[in-house]
Amino acid sequence: MARVWFIGAGPGAPDLLTVRGARLIGEADVVIWARSLVNERVMEHARPDAEILESTTIPLEGVRELYERAVVEDLRVARVHSGDPSVYSAVMEQMELCKEIGLPWEIVPGVSSLGAAAAAIGRELTVPEVSQSVVLTRRASRTPMPAGEDIRSFAAHGTTMAIFLSAARPRALQEELLEGGYAPDTPCAVVYKASWPDEMIIECPLEELAHRVREAGFTRQALILVGPGLAAGGTRSHLYSPRFSHMFRRAKPEERENAS
Ligand code: SAH
Repeated sequence: MARVWFIGAGPGAPDLLTVRGARLIGEADVVIWARSLVNERVMEHARPDAEILESTTIPLEGVRELYERAVVEDLRVARVHSGDPSVYSAVMEQMELCKEIGLPWEIVPGVSSLGAAAAAIGRELTVPEVSQSVVLTRRASRTPMPAGEDIRSFAAHGTTMAIFLSAARPRALQEELLEGGYAPDTPCAVVYKASWPDEMIIECPLEELAHRVREAGFTRQALILVGPGLAAGGTRSHLYSPRFSHMFRRAKPEERENAS
C-alpha cells in the first residue's frame, strides 16, 4: 500500500543506518535523498529499478506531485533524512502535506549527529552531579528563534549544550555563550562530519572557540558541544552504586538508608 517512510540515515557512516531503515530503503519504489548530507553508500540499499530523486532539486510543490502520484500509483516512498528525523529535519511540513493528500506515513528513527559527535570525542554528555541535562539548540539565522530560546538564556543553565547549524558565525556564538554565563575556560568540542572518513575534532576552552572554528574552516556539518561536563569526571553513577536500587538489583537495607 502507498506510504512514505521518513528514514533517519544516521550521521554519515553507512553502517550507522538502522537495519529497519536499510530494509525499507530496499523495499521502496521511490527513494528521495539529499546528496550533500547523506552518504551515497546508504543508497546502495535501494532496488536497482527504484526511482532515485535528489531532494535539493525538488521544491515542496514537486514533492506534492510525487506524493500524489504515490497515492494514485500505489508507490512506497523512502524519504531519507540525515541523522535522526526528530531534530532539524523539516519532516513536519511533509507530514502535513501527506495528511492533506491522504498518504499514510511513518518515521524510522536514526542515529543523530548528537550521538555520533559524543562518540567521536569519547564522552558521555551527562555526568553525575555536573551535568544531567543536554540542551539541543541552534543560533537564529533565516530561521528566527522563538522568544526565550536564545543561546544566552540556555547558557545560563551551565549544563551541556549541543548546538546545531551554527558553525558559520562562531564569534557571535562564543560571545553569546560567555554573556550567558559560561566561564571562559568551559570545555568545548566541535565535531565536523562525525563518523565520515574526513571527520575532524576541535577540543578547546570556550574563549578559543571562534578562533579555532575559523582556523579549521568549519562552516557547516559541525556540531558544537559546550559545558563543564565535557571534561569532568563526575561522581560515581548511582545506577551502578551498591546503594542504589533499580529494577534488577535491590540495595542492602543499611545501604538504602544512606542513599540520597
Ligand atoms: N537531523 C540531523 C540534524 C540535521 S540539521 C541529526 O539528527 O543529526 C544539520 C546540522 O546537524 C548540521 O548543521 C550540524 O550541526 C549537524 N550535523 C549533521 N550531521 C553531522 C555530522 N555528521 N557531524 C557533525 N554535525 C552534524
